[in-house]
Amino acid sequence: MTNLETIKEIKKWKDNYNLYYLQDKKNIDTSIKAKRDKALNNLLYACDALIRDALKSEIDIIDKELIFRPGLAKRSKTELIILHHTACETATILDVHSWHLQKGWNGCGYHFFINKKGEIFRGRPIEMIGAHCEGSNAYSIGICNEGNYEIEIGLLKEQTKANVKLIKYLKSIPEYSHVKVVGHKDKYATKCPGKYFPLNLLEHI
Ligand SMILES: [Zn+2]
Repeated sequence: MTNLETIKEIKKWKDNYNLYYLQDKKNIDTSIKAKRDKALNNLLYACDALIRDALKSEIDIIDKELIFRPGLAKRSKTELIILHHTACETATILDVHSWHLQKGWNGCGYHFFINKKGEIFRGRPIEMIGAHCEGSNAYSIGICNEGNYEIEIGLLKEQTKANVKLIKYLKSIPEYSHVKVVGHKDKYATKCPGKYFPLNLLEHI
């Protein structure tokens, strides 16, 4: 929802609340009271949405405007955020995009990519089905980290901070607030994201 839509929503529920509040004052009618409470709940929810929108703009996501092959499909639900590493010590979002195109995929299979400097890049559009974890793509968001954490010890400080920031941001969006954070290896027979990846820390944000 855009800010403008959210503001309209707030106005609508505020007007409804005031209307039911006045009606409720005149005579005690439980159905009016229930409507009044519902309007108040919706009003508070819409106010929260405005705050969440404001929070969203604080996160800096770099958009390299990747061009995807046609045929991406929308996810109907989102249950998980799945964390990955590139399994090579250096790579960019553009490398990943071209590797995945070469595999015959629509393009970068991850929704986000975080480099060692802690910069966050947009990959596949967030609402689309990714290509990062066989069997779980239809209901997950994929985040990939530059690095090989099977041999590199721990995520660099900036990269850890960026993961925390991105996960918090995603959970601030109402449709993703319930998602569980897991590692690729929790869902598939793989070492990804590597034994030195701070999975425990990131799973409990
Ligand atoms: Zn992986």
